[in-house]
Amino acid sequence: MASSLNELNPKLLWKHFAKILTIPHCSGNEKPLGDYVLSVAASLGLPGKRDKVGNVLVSKPATAGREGAVGAILQGHLDMVCEKNSDKVHDFSKDPIQAEIKGEWVYAKGTTLGADNGIGLAAALAVMEDKTLVHGPLEFLFTVDEETGLTGANKIQKGFLSGRMLLNLDSEDEGTFTIGCAGGADSTLILPLDRKKTASKNLYKLHVHGLRGGHSGLDINQGRGNAIKLLARMLGQAQTAAKFEVISVEGGSKHNAIPREAVAVLACPPVQVRLMTTAFKKAFDKIQVEFKAVEPGAAYSLEPAPGKDFALTQDCQRTLIAFLNALPHGVIAMHPEIAGLTETSTNLAIVKTGKAAFEVLCSTRSSVASALEATRGVIISVCALAGARADLKDGYPGWMPNLDSALLKKLKELYVKTFGKEAEVVAVHAGLECGIIGEKFPGMDMISFGPTMKNPHSPEEHVHAGSVEKFWTFLTAAIDGLSS
Ligand SMILES: [Zn+2]
Repeated sequence: MASSLNELNPKLLWKHFAKILTIPHCSGNEKPLGDYVLSVAASLGLPGKRDKVGNVLVSKPATAGREGAVGAILQGHLDMVCEKNSDKVHDFSKDPIQAEIKGEWVYAKGTTLGADNGIGLAAALAVMEDKTLVHGPLEFLFTVDEETGLTGANKIQKGFLSGRMLLNLDSEDEGTFTIGCAGGADSTLILPLDRKKTASKNLYKLHVHGLRGGHSGLDINQGRGNAIKLLARMLGQAQTAAKFEVISVEGGSKHNAIPREAVAVLACPPVQVRLMTTAFKKAFDKIQVEFKAVEPGAAYSLEPAPGKDFALTQDCQRTLIAFLNALPHGVIAMHPEIAGLTETSTNLAIVKTGKAAFEVLCSTRSSVASALEATRGVIISVCALAGARADLKDGYPGWMPNLDSALLKKLKELYVKTFGKEAEVVAVHAGLECGIIGEKFPGMDMISFGPTMKNPHSPEEHVHAGSVEKFWTFLTAAIDGLSS
């Protein structure tokens, strides 16, 4: 069994990966790694260039007899997510990542490993260097800042690339081809508030908590509860049974997370407290039964609270509660041809109450641009009914799965030829660089694949050494097969 990276195969790929581990490359600090890529290219006599944001492109001419083939681009991102365990002493701006082999897997000691996307980069560098491979004209595209904002892909200039098919090397399951992703866009909604002095000084805090949350794209099809929606539902049902006044509603923390907690501050006269308490309990009991399987930890509390004594007017309160109940959340549509893939969804992500305005953030995703627009249209319509204003931020484009892609067909055949079994074809309900590159370079045929890795973006990140070898075998077969 291997005890150090240089004992692993393919040697050339692991040599470059070992070097990458010694070069700091957290998101936003990709320059040193870009320099390394350009120095490798220069040492091989290959032309390289860098654009204004720091994306790097290297070209390698076709091998003899393949000059007329369609150009292929191998693409990965230079940056890594830098996370460490709290007890680990490590300075990501200068300390090398320490790799550790445990059985069939490669880990880092107490930090992220950066196999995402370091293995993809190392494979591209190995293809650059390896003189035994057969291929058409190749380009190697290394983008900056994928992890925090897809900035590099977003800022690529027209004309930076010449190839017409792109192999993205940033996937996490060997034997799987990714052929689509979701686009996304956030909308901020502002509902003006009217306030009056509370009729009662008796204040309460209604808190919904214990929910699982999760990623607003990848986990949205799990049917988990959204704390804001559940709280709004409880308020809506209770306001017909008891008299209380809403002072504020707060919930959620990130645009890409399903809200796990939400809180309403209420004023309720002593004579109404029993009615209100019973109404909340009744509403929550139903929620608990409904969500028993997916949200076993769901809970709420109702406790006396200190607070301000200006509540919403009754009209405004009814509008606010109706607004939250009407705004969409969750899966809007599943993909008609790819089983299990969410096509369109929206996350009612964050709500905040100010003195004179209530603010809502909705984060919408779809692999189909028109469906994304239509879902935002629903949100705008709800705003129109409630008298709220919608501020629509520009989003990022999706990558609509093309089951008829020539690249996909060819790579499926090559996979069967190489390994004697079919590759799995999937799409993801989250943003990928391919969505943006595809929009900037219309007609680009794209696919994404990579070795098997687990827990990327955390100190538990690890990559399967055997799958790296298979990834390499397939990548080299692909550049040969695509040019023949
Ligand atoms: Zn990645």
